[in-house]
Amino acid sequence: MSVQQEAGAAGEALEVWIDQDLCTGDGICAQYAPEVFELDIDGLAYVKGADDVLLQDRGATAPVPLPLVMEVADSAKECPGDCIHVRRVGDKVEIYGPDAE
Ligand code: SF4
Repeated sequence: MSVQQEAGAAGEALEVWIDQDLCTGDGICAQYAPEVFELDIDGLAYVKGADDVLLQDRGATAPVPLPLVMEVADSAKECPGDCIHVRRVGDKVEIYGPDAE
């Protein structure tokens, strides 16, 4: 079973962060999961934390809402900048993104 399948099967808590240095600003992530991603006025994507608040620190981490795991995973797969990182909260192993196994 792949790491992705294991994580999905276990329903483990996931978190997501963006490496803004590589973000192209195309907005694909914000189209896939607007509840999680948003473009800021600098034209780069950032993640949203609790209460829909945009986390404007570079590399900030936000929890992935369980119903949106697939949308966030698709965002990471389609991201042209290869800069969306989705990892397990428990052991910080990347599940989707450029550093996933
Ligand atoms: S999909 Fe990737 S490159 Fe495009 S805006 Fe989102 S984080 Fe940036």
